[in-house]
Amino acid sequence: TIGMLAIDQQGNVSGACTTSGMAFKMQGRVGDSPVIGAGLYVDNEIGGATATGVGEEVIRIAGAHLIVELMRQGFTPQQACREAVERIVKRSPAKAKEMQVGFLALNKQGVHGAFCLQEGFSYAVKSASETQMHTGQHYF
Ligand code: ASP
Repeated sequence: TIGMLAIDQQGNVSGACTTSGMAFKMQGRVGDSPVIGAGLYVDNEIGGATATGVGEEVIRIAGAHLIVELMRQGFTPQQACREAVERIVKRSPAKAKEMQVGFLALNKQGVHGAFCLQEGFSYAVKSASETQMHTGQHYF
């Protein structure tokens, strides 16, 4: 999945994501990326979130929507992404060790954060002051 979150000079937040799906997927499978609230969600009052990895797990917790709602309650983007990952671990602890799910979030203040199950999730940030790769913290 390629997930993108953006904020303009007026503070408007937007997002997009695209995917080729999972390898060896069943014909007709719908992953999380085209499901608004799962692979992508943006609320211009709060911020946005996007996901990559095993879409079935992201759909089960309505991941991107969950993260935006947690940010609404005061979680930082990083904390909100971590909470979403922890919900996946709680639902299926054994499976969670064997798969990757990563979340990325950006709030209305322009603060970004990420969290994933396994090491190896990185994302790029481009702004007037920064062009840099960041590594998402991981659960395992
Ligand atoms: N999230 C995608 C899916 O489940 C897979 C990916 O990360 O590209 O379809």
